[in-house]
Amino acid sequence: MTTLTEHFTLEELVHSDTARILGIANVPTPAIVANLRRLAQFNEMVRLALGGAAMTISSGYRCPALNRAVGGARNSAHLHGLANDFIAPTFGTPLAICQTLKKSYLEFDQLIYERAGGAIWVHLAIAREGSQPRRQTLTVDNKSTRIGLWQ
Ligand SMILES: [Zn+2]
Repeated sequence: MTTLTEHFTLEELVHSDTARILGIANVPTPAIVANLRRLAQFNEMVRLALGGAAMTISSGYRCPALNRAVGGARNSAHLHGLANDFIAPTFGTPLAICQTLKKSYLEFDQLIYERAGGAIWVHLAIAREGSQPRRQTLTVDNKSTRIGLWQ
């Protein structure tokens, strides 16, 4: 295991059930690992904002083949190791997480309340190094993308 921060490892930010099933080698470059380290550091602050609740990450880095396989956006922040999808059941629902992070001081780039195929999760992206975080909040589901209705 490669520990990035106290509560996050490189492996959990790279792991993908889909990649495993499809035999896709989801291996990040050193530049992407550097982004994943920044993401893990940001996650530590998110975790604090959620009262120390454990975060279960379902998708972090996605190589282009994996991003295509899961139907990710062409310019997805996951491609650069700048985003992860997670839940934190001991804190509350993804909706409660989004509302809490929106109210926090945290400078995320994008926070998405995301729903697809019966699953619900939080997509959290940080800005590229040197870029200004947009603090954009959205709801994305099968039907549409819209400015966060949950604010
Ligand atoms: Zn995502």
